[in-house]
Formats: sequence, C-alpha cells, structure tokens
Amino acid sequence: MKIQLIGTGTIPDIANSASILINDHILFDMPNGNLKAMIRQNIDIMRIDTLIISHTHADHCFDVPFLLWYKKDYYKLGYKLSTKIVTDELTKDTVENLIDLSYFGSAKEAEKEFIDFQDVNNIKICDDVEILNEPMLHRKIKYANGYIIKENHVSIGLTGDTSYCEGVRKIASKVDYLICDMTLMLGNDSHMGIDNILELMEDYPNLKIIPIHMHDKTRNEAKKLEKDNLLIYEDGKILEV
Ligand SMILES: [Zn+2]
Repeated sequence: MKIQLIGTGTIPDIANSASILINDHILFDMPNGNLKAMIRQNIDIMRIDTLIISHTHADHCFDVPFLLWYKKDYYKLGYKLSTKIVTDELTKDTVENLIDLSYFGSAKEAEKEFIDFQDVNNIKICDDVEILNEPMLHRKIKYANGYIIKENHVSIGLTGDTSYCEGVRKIASKVDYLICDMTLMLGNDSHMGIDNILELMEDYPNLKIIPIHMHDKTRNEAKKLEKDNLLIYEDGKILEV
C-alpha cells in the first residue's frame, strides 16, 4: 500500500492540515487549502476517485468544491467516473451546502451527475482495498469517523480528529499502522495528545504510529522522544507499507 502524507499539521501551524492519499487514488479528508497542497506535491488529482471524510469540521472538508472544480474538464470530456464520497449524513449536508455556496456551476453539475455519496455504515467501493468504519469521539460532534483500510496482508487505521476513546483502541488492536490525531501535548475531550500515544505504544508494542494533525510544539516535543515505532514525518512523505 502506498501512503502519501499530504498534510500532517493543523489549522494555525506551518504544515498543511491533515490529509492522506492512499494508492494514488483514495483521499482521506479534504481540508481548506488541500487542492493547492496536492498541486505542490505533484499529485495527479484526476486519479482521485474516492474521498473518505472523517467529519464535518472545516479543516477536513472545506476544499471539496475545489476538488470537483478541478475535475470539471474531466467530467466535460465525458469520463463517466464518479467521485465516491464516503461520509456521514451531517458531513454530506455540509458538502452539499459548500457546493451551493461556492458558485462553481460546474462543481454543481459534477455533483448531480458524478458524486456517489456512500454512507459510512454501508461502504461498498474500491477494488484494491477494503474500507471499514469505526466511530470516534470528538467532543460533542455527532459523527466523527475513523477507518480501517486493508490491502492484502497490510492494514492501516485512520482516526481523524478524536479523543482517546474505545474506538481508537479498537482500531489500534487491528492494524499494522495507525495514522492518528496527535494534536496536543496532553489529550482532552477533542483531540489526542502525546500522553495518549505513549499509552497506545505500551499497550500495542508492535503497532507503528504515524501522528498527524500535530501542532508545531507537539511535533517538536514528540521528536525528542526518539521512539522507534513513533514515525514523525513532514508533509509530502511517501511510504510503501
Ligand atoms: Zn475536528
């Protein structure tokens, strides 16, 4: 499985907001500014056919209209490939509202004809991987989605934004790599912290953890720990696992 870390940061930091590309065509989250981040990393955006969205917050889905706008010529050329969007009903409403507000007529057209919304509870897509949903806890937000992605004998977990909850531990127990929220030094009811990650590392010693959604300060402190299974990367990193 190929993993590209498009963004490893969060809103007020130098790094791009968190977004991950899998096998060049499955995108996890589309935060504000992500289209430009992908262009800077020479990603072939036309190849992206599946978008998995963790939750409705702006720094996870506000660039969706720009993705559709970018692909508009592709649609016009008659390629009948839909963009599959896997998410919950609340985020689906947000995305539809964003498309209405964006004034990109072409994105709207694309949505009507070519977006295939798939509810997290009934995901049936992708020939090369299997995608499973696992609910997270992100303060009071109604739906926060974590995912497990499996290809052959490798599996990765993606938490999106979450506190340290049962869902995180459940994913951690099932995967080889966990790409997860590590926003803070100390976790709270919205986000995980270094303290939570250290606990996970103790409980799952074989698990490789790739933190994302990191504040700059958190990133710098975590680097000092020099733990073998805590893999701290910068934006643009590509891994084959
Ligand atoms: Zn959030």
